[in-house]
Amino acid sequence: MATMLDPKPLEAASLQESLDLSLVIPIYNEYESIPRLLKVVTEVMAPLAYTYEVICVDDGSTDGSVDVLREHTAIYPHLAVLLLRRNYGQTAAMAAGFDHARGKVIITLDGDLQNDPADIPMLMDKLDEGYDLVSGWRKQRQDHQLTRLLPSKIANWIIARVTGVSIHDYGCSLKAYRAELVRDMNLYGELHRFLPALAFIEGARITEVPVNHYARQFGASKYGLGRTFRVVMDLLTVYFMKRFLTKPMYVFGLMGLVSIILGILLGGYLTFLKLGMGQSIGDRPLLILTIVLLLGGIQLLCFGLLAELLMRTYHESQGRPIYRVREVLRH
Ligand code: UDP
Ligand code: MG
Repeated sequence: MATMLDPKPLEAASLQESLDLSLVIPIYNEYESIPRLLKVVTEVMAPLAYTYEVICVDDGSTDGSVDVLREHTAIYPHLAVLLLRRNYGQTAAMAAGFDHARGKVIITLDGDLQNDPADIPMLMDKLDEGYDLVSGWRKQRQDHQLTRLLPSKIANWIIARVTGVSIHDYGCSLKAYRAELVRDMNLYGELHRFLPALAFIEGARITEVPVNHYARQFGASKYGLGRTFRVVMDLLTVYFMKRFLTKPMYVFGLMGLVSIILGILLGGYLTFLKLGMGQSIGDRPLLILTIVLLLGGIQLLCFGLLAELLMRTYHESQGRPIYRVREVLRH
């Protein structure tokens, strides 16, 4: 317990990946659900052969969840509790859990009993088939039709199109990851729902399996329609990452060049009209378009160069190679 609260336990390399499985559970004001959740998880894990730990990340709860969690550390030897200083949001809570996880596999689930821990063995089996990420699909989702299911259907459709990873249910928290994959990804905002997309960028093999889903028994959902806006913004970020991460100049440079070439052609045409035909061009909309194309093109080119510099800083400052090795085979 004491070591788990240490801010940098990962620095002891021996701690890292010494278990088969880490369960990461973000908790924000779920005190009624916690006892049952931990009980069910323990019952599911007991007959399995995996060494495991349960990491509950308390995301600044104010309802007494902390006390409930604290009491349970005395009961369950597999339980580690991480108390964040304030409410950072589900993504940050999950990231904290990832950073402290010691499992070779990390499985996330919600702390509100909406996911079914009984699905865990199935996710593990799928990983064993060679996948790097297995995402749960709440086929029979138990949430409000109009405010939750419809926006989520639309969002999932758009996300799948934009990111090119076609799974049905990005929002499902029940997912299993190979730990090294998770360590390659940096999370911000509400990016946890885009983990499959980010994983895809990192070259992961991804699949989905239908999982159980239950209606919330206790407490209230922490999200409303406001989440839609944040998801759209995050989607833009992910799209940007996917397209431009290593070669922004290819994209901005191309747009800039096309714009400049068009500008030069139109400018040449206008110059010909002015000097060759003696026409007045000062009041022509085409002149404005020409100027916009030329200036815009130069801006795009410069922007591409800047983006190129930024990307290099991004990769090199973090020691992030531009490739990912899946495996090394030797004699
Ligand atoms: N959660 C969190 N921090 C937050 C909001 C939510 O840790 O700021 C946790 C919450 O306790 C739950 C999970 O994230 O375990 C999913 O939240 P919720 O059930 O409200 O989302 P929904 O299932 O309604 O999409
Ligand atoms: Mg929930």
